[in-house]
Amino acid sequence: MSDHLFINNASLRGELNRRGFFKWNALLAGTMAAARGCARGLILLEKGASSESAVRRPDRVLRVGCPSHNCGGKCLLKVHVKDGVITRIEGDDRPTDEVADPQLRACVRGRAYRRRQYPPDRLKYPMKRIGKRGTGKFERISWDEALDTMAAEMQRIKQTYGNSAMYGFTDKSATSLIPLAQAWNHPPTVTNPKGCESRGHRQTERAYRFVPKASFMSFTLNGSEETPVHNPCFVIKHWTGENKSRLEVNGKELAPCSKSFRQGMTRDVDGTLMLVVWVELESVSPVRFAIEEGEG
Ligand code: SF4
Repeated sequence: MSDHLFINNASLRGELNRRGFFKWNALLAGTMAAARGCARGLILLEKGASSESAVRRPDRVLRVGCPSHNCGGKCLLKVHVKDGVITRIEGDDRPTDEVADPQLRACVRGRAYRRRQYPPDRLKYPMKRIGKRGTGKFERISWDEALDTMAAEMQRIKQTYGNSAMYGFTDKSATSLIPLAQAWNHPPTVTNPKGCESRGHRQTERAYRFVPKASFMSFTLNGSEETPVHNPCFVIKHWTGENKSRLEVNGKELAPCSKSFRQGMTRDVDGTLMLVVWVELESVSPVRFAIEEGEG
Protein backbone atom coordinates (compact mmCIF):
# COMPACT_ATOMS: atom_id res chain seq x y z
CA MET A 1 0.00 0.00 0.00
CA SER A 2 1.34 3.43 -0.82
CA ASP A 3 1.98 5.84 1.99
CA HIS A 4 -0.65 8.11 0.52
CA LEU A 5 -3.26 5.36 0.64
CA PHE A 6 -2.12 4.39 4.09
CA ILE A 7 -2.73 7.89 5.41
CA ASN A 8 -6.13 8.15 3.76
CA ASN A 9 -7.37 4.72 4.72
CA ALA A 10 -6.05 4.71 8.26
CA SER A 11 -7.34 8.16 9.06
CA LEU A 12 -10.73 7.51 7.44
CA ARG A 13 -11.29 4.30 9.34
CA GLY A 14 -9.59 5.43 12.54
CA GLU A 15 -7.81 2.10 12.57
CA LEU A 16 -4.19 1.57 13.46
CA ASN A 17 -2.76 -1.85 14.11
CA ARG A 18 0.76 -2.44 15.44
CA ARG A 19 2.40 -2.23 12.04
CA GLY A 20 0.08 0.57 11.07
CA PHE A 21 1.03 2.53 14.16
CA PHE A 22 4.71 2.23 13.45
CA LYS A 23 4.25 3.11 9.85
CA TRP A 24 2.07 6.10 10.67
CA ASN A 25 4.44 7.32 13.29
CA ALA A 26 7.43 6.83 11.09
CA LEU A 27 5.81 8.56 8.16
CA LEU A 28 4.79 11.68 10.04
CA ALA A 29 7.47 11.79 12.72
CA GLY A 30 10.59 11.40 10.73
CA THR A 31 11.49 7.73 10.44
CA MET A 32 10.02 6.90 7.04
CA ALA A 33 10.14 9.35 4.14
CA ALA A 34 8.09 8.48 1.12
CA ALA A 35 10.89 8.30 -1.41
CA ARG A 36 8.69 8.79 -4.40
CA GLY A 37 6.49 11.32 -2.64
CA CYS A 38 9.50 13.12 -1.22
CA ALA A 39 11.03 13.63 -4.63
CA ARG A 40 7.69 14.74 -6.01
CA GLY A 41 7.14 17.18 -3.15
CA LEU A 42 10.57 18.69 -3.55
CA ILE A 43 10.16 19.03 -7.30
CA LEU A 44 6.78 20.68 -6.84
CA LEU A 45 8.17 23.04 -4.26
CA GLU A 46 10.92 24.07 -6.63
CA LYS A 47 8.48 25.00 -9.36
CA GLY A 48 7.34 28.56 -8.77
CA ALA A 49 4.07 30.16 -7.83
CA SER A 50 1.59 28.35 -10.08
CA SER A 51 2.70 24.95 -8.90
CA GLU A 52 2.89 26.31 -5.40
CA SER A 53 -0.80 27.15 -5.42
CA ALA A 54 -1.58 23.63 -6.62
CA VAL A 55 0.55 22.25 -3.81
CA ARG A 56 -1.41 24.33 -1.36
CA ARG A 57 -4.71 22.60 -2.15
CA PRO A 58 -4.50 19.56 0.09
CA ASP A 59 -6.52 16.45 -0.39
CA ARG A 60 -6.23 15.66 3.32
CA VAL A 61 -5.71 17.79 6.43
CA LEU A 62 -4.70 15.71 9.43
CA ARG A 63 -4.42 16.75 13.04
CA VAL A 64 -1.43 15.11 14.68
CA GLY A 65 0.77 15.58 17.72
CA CYS A 66 4.12 17.29 17.11
CA PRO A 67 6.95 14.72 17.03
CA SER A 68 8.81 17.21 19.24
CA HIS A 69 12.31 15.79 19.48
CA ASN A 70 13.62 16.58 22.96
CA CYS A 71 10.70 18.89 23.65
CA GLY A 72 7.88 16.79 25.07
CA GLY A 73 5.30 19.47 24.38
CA LYS A 74 3.23 17.48 21.89
CA CYS A 75 1.58 20.56 20.42
CA LEU A 76 -1.11 19.99 17.87
CA LEU A 77 -0.13 20.25 14.20
CA LYS A 78 -2.48 20.58 11.25
CA VAL A 79 -0.75 18.72 8.45
CA HIS A 80 -1.84 19.35 4.86
CA VAL A 81 -1.22 16.33 2.64
CA LYS A 82 -1.41 16.19 -1.11
CA ASP A 83 -0.63 13.02 -3.04
CA GLY A 84 0.94 11.54 0.05
CA VAL A 85 3.26 14.51 0.53
CA ILE A 86 3.08 16.99 3.39
CA THR A 87 2.67 20.37 1.75
CA ARG A 88 2.04 22.63 4.70
CA ILE A 89 1.94 22.56 8.49
CA GLU A 90 -0.22 24.87 10.57
CA GLY A 91 -0.70 25.29 14.28
CA ASP A 92 -3.77 24.57 16.37
CA ASP A 93 -6.68 26.76 15.25
CA ARG A 94 -9.56 25.25 17.19
CA PRO A 95 -12.09 28.03 17.77
CA THR A 96 -12.37 27.44 21.48
CA ASP A 97 -9.28 28.59 23.33
CA GLU A 98 -10.06 28.42 27.01
CA VAL A 99 -7.99 27.87 30.09
CA ALA A 100 -9.51 24.44 30.62
CA ASP A 101 -8.87 23.44 27.01
CA PRO A 102 -6.35 25.82 25.45
CA GLN A 103 -5.13 25.79 21.90
CA LEU A 104 -1.85 23.90 21.65
CA ARG A 105 -0.17 26.20 19.15
CA ALA A 106 3.05 24.97 17.67
CA CYS A 107 6.33 26.83 17.81
CA VAL A 108 8.46 27.49 14.72
CA ARG A 109 10.27 24.20 15.15
CA GLY A 110 7.00 22.28 15.08
CA ARG A 111 5.75 24.26 12.11
CA ALA A 112 9.02 23.66 10.25
CA TYR A 113 8.83 19.90 10.54
CA ARG A 114 8.14 19.55 6.81
CA ARG A 115 11.75 20.54 6.20
CA ARG A 116 12.90 17.86 8.57
CA GLN A 117 10.67 15.33 6.88
CA TYR A 118 11.92 15.99 3.35
CA PRO A 119 15.58 16.97 3.36
CA PRO A 120 17.30 15.52 0.30
CA ASP A 121 19.94 13.63 2.27
CA ARG A 122 17.73 11.82 4.75
CA LEU A 123 17.35 8.07 4.99
CA LYS A 124 14.39 6.74 3.04
CA TYR A 125 14.45 3.10 4.07
CA PRO A 126 15.63 1.06 7.06
CA MET A 127 19.30 0.25 7.36
CA LYS A 128 20.84 -2.36 9.63
CA ARG A 129 24.34 -2.05 11.00
CA ILE A 130 26.49 -4.95 9.83
CA GLY A 131 29.88 -3.83 11.10
CA LYS A 132 31.19 -2.68 14.43
CA ARG A 133 29.59 0.41 15.88
CA GLY A 134 31.24 3.45 14.36
CA THR A 135 32.55 1.71 11.25
CA GLY A 136 29.66 3.01 9.17
CA LYS A 137 28.78 -0.34 7.61
CA PHE A 138 25.08 -0.81 6.97
CA GLU A 139 22.85 -2.80 4.68
CA ARG A 140 19.37 -2.04 3.51
CA ILE A 141 16.60 -4.18 5.01
CA SER A 142 12.85 -4.42 4.41
CA TRP A 143 10.28 -2.58 6.50
CA ASP A 144 8.97 -5.95 7.71
CA GLU A 145 12.39 -6.96 8.98
CA ALA A 146 12.89 -3.55 10.60
CA LEU A 147 9.54 -3.68 12.39
CA ASP A 148 10.05 -7.28 13.52
CA THR A 149 13.52 -6.40 14.81
CA MET A 150 12.22 -3.38 16.72
CA ALA A 151 9.29 -5.35 18.19
CA ALA A 152 11.61 -8.18 19.28
CA GLU A 153 14.04 -5.73 20.88
CA MET A 154 11.25 -3.94 22.73
CA GLN A 155 10.02 -7.27 24.07
CA ARG A 156 13.57 -8.21 25.10
CA ILE A 157 14.17 -4.93 26.92
CA LYS A 158 10.81 -5.13 28.66
CA GLN A 159 11.35 -8.71 29.78
CA THR A 160 14.95 -8.10 30.86
CA TYR A 161 14.66 -4.71 32.56
CA GLY A 162 10.93 -4.16 33.15
CA ASN A 163 8.37 -1.74 31.76
CA SER A 164 10.11 1.34 33.14
CA ALA A 165 13.06 0.73 30.81
CA MET A 166 10.73 1.60 27.93
CA TYR A 167 9.73 4.94 29.39
CA GLY A 168 11.93 7.46 27.69
CA PHE A 169 11.66 10.71 29.63
CA THR A 170 13.42 9.75 32.83
CA ASP A 171 15.84 7.24 34.25
CA LYS A 172 13.66 6.81 37.34
CA SER A 173 11.53 3.74 37.89
CA ALA A 174 7.83 3.93 37.07
CA THR A 175 6.83 3.43 40.71
CA SER A 176 9.01 6.33 41.87
CA LEU A 177 6.96 8.61 39.59
CA ILE A 178 3.66 7.82 41.33
CA PRO A 179 3.93 10.74 43.82
CA LEU A 180 4.58 13.14 40.95
CA ALA A 181 1.55 11.83 39.06
CA GLN A 182 -0.49 12.10 42.25
CA ALA A 183 0.68 15.66 42.84
CA TRP A 184 -0.33 16.59 39.29
CA ASN A 185 -3.68 14.82 39.36
CA HIS A 186 -4.55 15.67 42.97
CA PRO A 187 -2.54 18.80 43.75
CA PRO A 188 -2.55 19.96 47.37
CA THR A 189 -4.77 22.95 48.01
CA VAL A 190 -3.44 26.38 48.96
CA THR A 191 -4.43 27.51 52.44
CA ASN A 192 -3.85 30.59 54.58
CA PRO A 193 -2.45 32.93 51.91
CA LYS A 194 -0.98 36.10 53.35
CA GLY A 195 0.08 39.11 51.29
CA CYS A 196 -1.21 37.46 48.11
CA GLU A 197 -4.27 36.14 46.40
CA SER A 198 -4.24 32.49 45.40
CA ARG A 199 -5.59 31.66 41.95
CA GLY A 200 -5.24 27.95 42.67
CA HIS A 201 -3.47 25.18 40.78
CA ARG A 202 -3.59 25.26 37.00
CA GLN A 203 -3.66 21.77 35.62
CA THR A 204 -2.50 22.85 32.18
CA GLU A 205 0.58 24.58 33.62
CA ARG A 206 1.20 22.15 36.47
CA ALA A 207 1.70 25.29 38.52
CA TYR A 208 0.10 27.41 41.21
CA ARG A 209 -0.83 30.97 40.33
CA PHE A 210 -0.69 33.90 42.72
CA VAL A 211 -1.17 37.66 42.59
CA PRO A 212 0.87 39.52 45.23
CA LYS A 213 -0.87 42.05 47.47
CA ALA A 214 2.20 43.00 49.49
CA SER A 215 5.98 42.80 49.16
CA PHE A 216 6.04 39.72 51.42
CA MET A 217 3.74 36.85 50.57
CA SER A 218 3.29 33.45 52.15
CA PHE A 219 0.96 30.48 51.82
CA THR A 220 0.68 26.80 52.72
CA LEU A 221 0.42 23.84 50.37
CA ASN A 222 -1.75 21.35 52.18
CA GLY A 223 0.33 18.25 51.47
CA SER A 224 -0.89 14.79 52.51
CA GLU A 225 -0.50 11.16 51.45
CA GLU A 226 -3.35 11.62 48.96
CA THR A 227 -2.23 15.05 47.80
CA PRO A 228 1.56 15.12 48.07
CA VAL A 229 3.71 18.20 47.51
CA HIS A 230 6.10 17.26 44.73
CA ASN A 231 8.47 19.78 43.16
CA PRO A 232 5.90 22.59 43.09
CA CYS A 233 5.99 25.47 40.67
CA PHE A 234 4.59 28.94 41.46
CA VAL A 235 3.70 31.56 38.87
CA ILE A 236 3.35 34.99 40.49
CA LYS A 237 1.58 37.45 38.25
CA HIS A 238 2.16 41.22 38.30
CA TRP A 239 5.53 40.77 39.96
CA THR A 240 7.14 44.16 40.44
CA GLY A 241 10.45 43.13 41.98
CA GLU A 242 13.63 43.76 40.04
CA ASN A 243 15.94 41.59 42.09
CA LYS A 244 16.02 37.86 42.60
CA SER A 245 13.43 36.68 45.09
CA ARG A 246 14.02 35.09 48.48
CA LEU A 247 12.23 31.88 49.34
CA GLU A 248 11.58 30.32 52.72
CA VAL A 249 10.28 26.79 53.12
CA ASN A 250 8.87 26.10 56.59
CA GLY A 251 10.79 29.12 57.88
CA LYS A 252 14.12 28.07 56.39
CA GLU A 253 15.63 30.13 53.59
CA LEU A 254 16.80 28.31 50.47
CA ALA A 255 19.86 29.53 48.64
CA PRO A 256 18.66 31.49 45.59
CA CYS A 257 19.13 29.87 42.19
CA SER A 258 20.39 26.64 43.71
CA LYS A 259 19.62 23.18 42.39
CA SER A 260 16.52 22.98 44.57
CA PHE A 261 15.27 26.55 44.06
CA ARG A 262 15.10 28.02 40.60
CA GLN A 263 13.45 31.20 39.50
CA GLY A 264 13.00 33.30 36.41
CA MET A 265 11.02 36.22 35.07
CA THR A 266 8.82 36.14 32.03
CA ARG A 267 6.02 38.20 30.56
CA ASP A 268 2.42 37.12 30.48
CA VAL A 269 0.40 37.52 27.29
CA ASP A 270 -0.88 40.86 28.63
CA GLY A 271 2.71 42.12 28.94
CA THR A 272 2.91 42.05 32.73
CA LEU A 273 5.89 40.53 34.47
CA MET A 274 5.58 37.14 36.11
CA LEU A 275 7.95 35.50 38.54
CA VAL A 276 8.21 31.75 38.07
CA VAL A 277 9.57 29.75 40.99
CA TRP A 278 10.34 26.04 41.05
CA VAL A 279 11.23 24.17 44.20
CA GLU A 280 12.68 20.69 44.48
CA LEU A 281 10.74 19.38 47.43
CA GLU A 282 8.70 16.30 48.30
CA SER A 283 6.39 16.19 51.29
CA VAL A 284 3.22 14.47 52.45
CA SER A 285 2.68 17.13 55.13
CA PRO A 286 1.60 20.79 54.84
CA VAL A 287 4.47 23.04 53.74
CA ARG A 288 4.61 26.81 54.32
CA PHE A 289 6.25 28.94 51.65
CA ALA A 290 7.23 32.60 51.90
CA ILE A 291 8.44 34.70 48.96
CA GLU A 292 9.69 38.26 48.79
CA GLU A 293 12.01 40.30 46.65
CA GLY A 294 15.63 39.91 47.64
CA GLU A 295 18.16 42.67 47.98
CA GLY A 296 20.00 43.75 44.85
S1 SF4 B 1 5.53 22.62 18.35
FE1 SF4 B 1 7.40 23.26 19.34
S2 SF4 B 1 6.83 23.48 21.52
FE2 SF4 B 1 5.22 22.26 20.52
S3 SF4 B 1 5.82 20.12 20.83
FE3 SF4 B 1 6.63 20.75 18.84
S4 SF4 B 1 8.72 21.44 19.24
FE4 SF4 B 1 7.64 21.38 21.21
